Amino acid sequence: MDYYEESARLFKTLMHPARLEILEILRDGEHCVCHIEAALGYRQAYISQQLSVLREAGLIQDRRDGWNIYYRVVQSKVFDVLDAAQAVTGVKRARRKAAVDHCPCPQCSAIEAVAV
Ligand SMILES: [Zn+2]
Repeated sequence: MDYYEESARLFKTLMHPARLEILEILRDGEHCVCHIEAALGYRQAYISQQLSVLREAGLIQDRRDGWNIYYRVVQSKVFDVLDAAQAVTGVKRARRKAAVDHCPCPQCSAIEAVAV
């Protein structure tokens, strides 16, 4: 496959702020869809659409566990690309909190339970 075409394909996949946000959420590991929704505040259909683009590009994978669907990044090298973009633009991304307020996912519920 052609190097330039493959690189352009990757950049096309990344050429969307919401997809970059999703990847940043998944930087620290696997998260369920409800967590991504709570963290970003977008409609579920919109997030599903962006997740499927990332999945079809082979950057993320999903896993079903009961009622929850979890996503994780399978190409961790993509974060080198995101870090390089940050270095080039000079704009730092905001740090994310470990737990998202009012998030129903098991992970956030566990953190909130400890904090209370
Ligand atoms: Zn959560």
